[in-house]
Amino acid sequence: MAKWVCTVCNYVYDEEVGDPDGGIAPGTRFEDIPDDWVCPLCGVGKDQFEQQ
Ligand SMILES: [Zn+2]
Repeated sequence: MAKWVCTVCNYVYDEEVGDPDGGIAPGTRFEDIPDDWVCPLCGVGKDQFEQQ
């Protein structure tokens, strides 16, 4: 599975881990995350992430 990096704060979204605190289950692919999800650290949208 892939990892995606926030270009603003360098938070890493790991598809294997998900974002349980943000309601994203482990194993959720980045493209399947709802569009209203934001970076848990700095609050920017998905369009600010790049695949690692
Ligand atoms: Zn961020």
